[in-house]
Order: sequence, then C-alpha cells, then structure tokens
Amino acid sequence: MTDSPAPQDPLAPATRVVALGREDAPGAQVGAPLVLTSTYRAGGDAVYARTANPTWTAFETALGSLEGGDALVFASGMAAVAASLSLVPHGGVVVAPDSAYNGVVSTLAAREAAGEVEVRRVDVTDTGAVVTALDGASLVWLESPTNPLLEVADLPAVLGAARERGVLSVVDNTFATPLLQRPLEDGADLVVHSVTKYLSGHSDVVLGATVTAPTDAGRALRERLLTHRVLHGAIAGPLEVWLALRGLRTLHLRVERAQASAAVLAERLRAHPAVERVRHPGWGAIVSVEVAGGADAAERAADATRVWVHSTSLGGVESQLERRRRIPTEPLAVPENLIRLSVGIEDVDDLWRDLDQALRSVL
Ligand SMILES: *Cc1c(COP(=O)(O)O)cnc(C)c1O
Repeated sequence: MTDSPAPQDPLAPATRVVALGREDAPGAQVGAPLVLTSTYRAGGDAVYARTANPTWTAFETALGSLEGGDALVFASGMAAVAASLSLVPHGGVVVAPDSAYNGVVSTLAAREAAGEVEVRRVDVTDTGAVVTALDGASLVWLESPTNPLLEVADLPAVLGAARERGVLSVVDNTFATPLLQRPLEDGADLVVHSVTKYLSGHSDVVLGATVTAPTDAGRALRERLLTHRVLHGAIAGPLEVWLALRGLRTLHLRVERAQASAAVLAERLRAHPAVERVRHPGWGAIVSVEVAGGADAAERAADATRVWVHSTSLGGVESQLERRRRIPTEPLAVPENLIRLSVGIEDVDDLWRDLDQALRSVL
C-alpha cells in the first residue's frame, strides 16, 4: 500500500527521509494516517492488529530504505534487542563489547547467569581480538560508537570476518543513525535501533526497530524476528509510531545541526579547565567528558545547567546531559566522573555558555 522504492533508490537520504512511507495515489493522505484498530474485516490481507498496522508499515518503509533493508518496528529498543538475541541457540556463544548500552550488557549478563548463553567480552577497538573471539560463536553484537565511551569498531573488518565464519552479526546503530553509518552495507546481518533516540528525535516516545538485508538470508531473518514480535507481543502502539515517523522527517536537519554543534563544543571542551578528558570520535552528536573533581563535581555540574536538560536518554531536539554512573547498572568501565552530552539543535553559543558556567561552578 505504501510506495516503496528499492534500497538502491537514487534519491539522496535527505530526500528519502522526507518522502518515503507515503501512499502515492490520487487523493491519498499526505500525512501518514494514524490507524487505531485492533482488528480488520475478514477477506483482506490484514487480519489482526498484533500482526499488522498500516502506520507501522509507513514508518518501516522509510527506515528500511534509509538503512538499505527491511525494517520491523518494536515496542522499545530493548524489545528489538530481545528479538535479536532470541536468534542465539541455547548455549550459543555471543561476542559482545565489554562496555556498551547498559540494557544490552545487563541482559547478556542475566542470560549468561541463567546458563542460556556464553558471553565473550571484547574491546571493540581491538579488531584482532574481536576477530579471534569469533571462532565458534553464534552471534557478534556490535555497538559503534559505544554508549557512552564512544569507542569505534572497524565495522567492515569485523563484519567481513563474521560473515566468513558464519557468525550472525548485529550492529546497534542508535548513535550513528543511518545518515552517518549503514552497517548492512558494511556486511552486517541485522541492525538494531532505539527509535526512542535520534530517529523519533523529540523525547516523546519509546520505540525500537530491527532492519535486515534485502537478500534471501536477510528475509529469512526478518521472518524469525517478525514471528518473535507477533508471538511475544512486542508490538508498538500506532500513536508512538506515527510520532516517530513525523519526527523522522526532520532527521537529516537535526543530525546535521547537532553534529556540527558537537564538533564545536568538543573542541572548546578540550581547553576547559574543569574537563580532564573529552571523548568524541570526530563525527556524530554525542560527546562524553570527564570532569575534574570526580563523581560529585560531575553530578553538581550536571545539575547546574539551565539550557541543557539533566536527564537520561539522548538524541532529542533538546540538549541533554547525564553522569552515566548515577545509573546503578552502568558498566564499571565507565568512569564515575563521566558526563554524556547529547547535543541538540539549539544555538551553539547558548549551549557553550551554559555548559561553561556549569563546569566553572564546580571548579
Ligand atoms: C537507549 C538505547 C537502547 C535501548 O532502547 P530503549 O528504546 O530505551 O529500549 C539500546 N541501545 C542504545 C545504544 C541505546 O542508547
């Protein structure tokens, strides 16, 4: 029902993010319809709304095209993570970053403790070590850049090695977004998103997604994920998906602005007397800083901003900051004095002045 150009559509991502997922027919609604129904009249393709909803399809068409594959929307990023990890057979080996999004780290630790999987933890920046760990593994989980240490993996090298060894590869692309990194093109089998973050972009929904390659193997994987979604009921509310699609329309503008401001702020922070270390991979809109004076100083600095919103989460239009170790489940590899900055779309000098005064207040 929706217009769905092939992933190799020649239109630029900045155009596709605006145009895709709309019905292309005379009289069709330009705004995607928000469809609220639990069931459908007999005789058509759609039967029951735990298996199909046109608002989901519109969003999935747009996201799938941006990543170059087939998307499925889930109730949250963690629901998409759970669906992806369900692909690991009982007792299978999972290669995973020693520090990554804490929900992923926690769920892997819980499954390991329950004897369901074996986890090999690796430094994702050490390509040789990651490749060595792949032997005999079922799945490799990658996050690049990692949350919140911003470590970058050599995706083409690791994903190529995984494919050669028949190891299923998953990349959490939440931080990069498909505008800055397309893991399927680098050889990933599966991409996971917390749609809660940049894709929806307005801090008003919790949603997730998976994207699989447009190949026979990719389609088979999509079927397994779809079955998981239907049978575990890990489905998204249509209103949330409608909001995410509305937010997605401006993804290109938001990421472009936030990334440009992040580069400016990272450079200025490197010279700040209250900052011991700045982490920024040179791209993307997340910057992590280690504050002189330890955890307490970092916590007070995070509390002292007026423009930056002191809150967990990231990827919204508003700049957000948080000392990550205030979350009890955060991996201990994350320094206690680390503040993660999610740069939004406000005026960069307002952001700088606010951050500067907050950091100076704890010197
Ligand atoms: C937030 C986040 C998740 C989890 O997504 P939810 O939508 O909160 O369930 C997974 N991966 C990364 C990198 C995240 O930042």
